[in-house]
Amino acid sequence: MKKVNISLKKYTKIKTGGQALFFCPENLDDIKNIPKNIKVIGNGSNILCEDKDYSFLNLNLLNSIFLKDNILTVYSGVKCSTLLRFLLNNNLSGLEFLSGIPGNTGGIVCMNAGSYGEEIGNYIKKVIYFDVKNWQIKECENNGDLFKYRKSVFNSDKIVLYVVFKELEKAENQNIKNKINDNFKRKLKTQPVLKHTFGSVFKNPVNISAWKLLSNSKIQGKCKGDACFSRKHANFIENKGNALFTDIKYLIEKAKEKVYNDTEIKLEEEVIYM
Ligand SMILES: Cc1cc2nc3c(=O)[nH]c(=O)nc-3n(C[C@H](O)[C@H](O)[C@H](O)COP(=O)(O)OP(=O)(O)OC[C@H]3O[C@@H](n4cnc5c(N)ncnc54)[C@H](O)[C@@H]3O)c2cc1C
Repeated sequence: MKKVNISLKKYTKIKTGGQALFFCPENLDDIKNIPKNIKVIGNGSNILCEDKDYSFLNLNLLNSIFLKDNILTVYSGVKCSTLLRFLLNNNLSGLEFLSGIPGNTGGIVCMNAGSYGEEIGNYIKKVIYFDVKNWQIKECENNGDLFKYRKSVFNSDKIVLYVVFKELEKAENQNIKNKINDNFKRKLKTQPVLKHTFGSVFKNPVNISAWKLLSNSKIQGKCKGDACFSRKHANFIENKGNALFTDIKYLIEKAKEKVYNDTEIKLEEEVIYM
């Protein structure tokens, strides 16, 4: 087990948090050597850390990809961008909607990440996970009850180790490349993807977009310290410099309160508090 000291301000996409000790298993068996009651961190792109020190389990060293008889197996530490490059090189299509999502495979599976009406859960055949309660590696088939909108049954008690995908379609290399590039350009145009953010603050309530509610309630552009609701996309918060956890949390609570007062709709966070 490798142990690494990391600055969470540097590691997380929103740039909050103190120092962290990362416990990084070097192979599958090593997962049994992790400390008890430890939270998992993926690529740090959907989380909000308090400005304090933490210990985290991090699976970045488990980063293999295998393709055999068209069946794709991907370990938790593989970044979305690496996975897309691999698929492109092997002319496999279907997951281009992941373009521009800055997570690791473990994180995208746990969050059931998605875009443009697609989500990763629809493409997963089987998940191999570490069951913390029994201290055992287990596997489960995706029979339809593992994934919901931006959530799954996986978490720090059911730690995703690797996933086996349903068979992906073969396609022309150039077509896959175009889709990946188009999706990224679309994100670049509409979201502050190059800023310090954690993606969408809130989940979309049924039949209405969170950004629309926030925009109607005139939340866009509101700041607390260096934390501001993005002018580019109403459902993103940007850290413009040295925003603290408390600044961001304050903004989130104020936005929830205002939207509720205006519409009686209760917004639910997509961002995960650590
Ligand atoms: C600019 C930007 C754009 C984004 N766009 C999108 C988008 O279009 N669609 C979308 O869905 N999301 C989007 N996100 C959010 C984020 O990228 C996704 O939620 C992503 O899936 C998080 O992956 P991660 O590896 O960074 O996980 P982290 O943020 O590190 O962790 C997220 C959660 O997953 C858990 N977790 C991580 N790894 C594991 C594991 N191996 N086993 C069990 N639990 C685990 C963590 O404990 C935590 O609860 C965006 C974020 C940013 C910053």
